[in-house]
Amino acid sequence: MLVVKKFGGSSVANKERIFNVARRCIDDYKKGNKVVVVLSAMGDTTDDLIALANDINPDAPKREMDMLLSIGEQQSVALMAMAMAKLGVPAISLNAFQVAMHTTSQYSNARFKRVDKDRILHELDAGKIVIVTGFQGVNKYDDITTLGRGGSDTTAVAIAATLNADRCEIFTDVDGVYTADPRIVKNARKLPEISYDEMLELASLGAQVLHNRSVEMAKKYGVTLVVRSSLNESEGTLVREVNTVEKMLVSGVACDKHAARIALIGVKNEPGVAFKVFDLLAKAGINVDMILQSVGRDDKKDISFTVDETEAKDAMKVLKENKDRLTITDFQDEENVAKLSIVGAGMQTNPGVAARMFGALYDAGVNIRMISTSEIRITVLIDLADVDRAMNAVHAEFMEEIEN
Ligand code: ADP
Ligand code: ASP
Ligand code: MG
Repeated sequence: MLVVKKFGGSSVANKERIFNVARRCIDDYKKGNKVVVVLSAMGDTTDDLIALANDINPDAPKREMDMLLSIGEQQSVALMAMAMAKLGVPAISLNAFQVAMHTTSQYSNARFKRVDKDRILHELDAGKIVIVTGFQGVNKYDDITTLGRGGSDTTAVAIAATLNADRCEIFTDVDGVYTADPRIVKNARKLPEISYDEMLELASLGAQVLHNRSVEMAKKYGVTLVVRSSLNESEGTLVREVNTVEKMLVSGVACDKHAARIALIGVKNEPGVAFKVFDLLAKAGINVDMILQSVGRDDKKDISFTVDETEAKDAMKVLKENKDRLTITDFQDEENVAKLSIVGAGMQTNPGVAARMFGALYDAGVNIRMISTSEIRITVLIDLADVDRAMNAVHAEFMEEIEN
């Protein structure tokens, strides 16, 4: 069997943890399996590197940020190979350049285009455990790129898909995918399995346990994922195509504390204004999420929308530069907001889910500022200060379904 095992930052945070991971991989290797290990940077290394960069230049060129951040993963893989050597097992570390993990050219948010398999297969055939850097790639200019925060999961899936691996395990600091972030909702329950579509929604809506693009890629290439703890042997959660007859009404609650809201006040109430605003933002590479347009009064209306807080500054900059052309009278922007979402495939066929969610928020005294929905999710924008309380209230409302 060929297995891909990915370990997150907390799983390799110190010497003991590194040896723990080394032993777990060696166990698999000694059973006769071919083992590819994908690692994240140790503990808070990536955050520390970002802080270091911000201290030098808060507007650092993205190319140089990627050059810097990629060293975190390179440190982990080299140390892991040393630990395995110490335990008497042949192992080799490889970075994205050595494997040749080709990505698009967009620094800090690159996507995989193609992964070469020759070098990995060659090393596996030589009887080694192969340890690959997560999170990084190489673009057509031969520059290092990174995949966005949490991107090591996507590296693991890309390698599993390319090598047609028999198993792809994502090891982390929780026992699997829960009905809500167990750090915020204490009685959240571990799900034995979850469909790709539901997991993709949860991951995109802030459940950081899996990088959203890793789920997208796993679905596309039919890679079954197992999410489990690196610190115990518990079963974990299977992420795969689930075809149960009775779909769960709500399979999970997620929150995103990194949202920002921008309101454009008093724009002209005429055709083409929304197009110009969102076309401009799209051309600037800014991802817009929830959008709300007020009913026009006289010849004016307001348009508000959310973006990730890391893109709020850039969004405000291009909008202000184009204020007159876009007929904007005034701006409002705030970062103290959060998105709270419920996800469940059963929502498609069951009415009343939104009403129950809003009822739970009302009972908890939480004000809803914006709403958006898809077939299998409902998202509300609320004040950041309310989010943990709101998440617990909404989780409790649907816990009965979740328990069944
Ligand atoms: P790693 O470093 O292993 O990649 P992450 O910090 O990226 O780990 O992801 C694991 C964390 O995701 C958990 O510690 C947990 O707090 C958080 N999390 C958020 N939502 C969920 C959820 N629905 N199920 C499990 N964990 C979740
Ligand atoms: N080290 C990177 C991060 O902190 C990638 C990852 O952990 O998946 O975002
Ligand atoms: Mg992660």
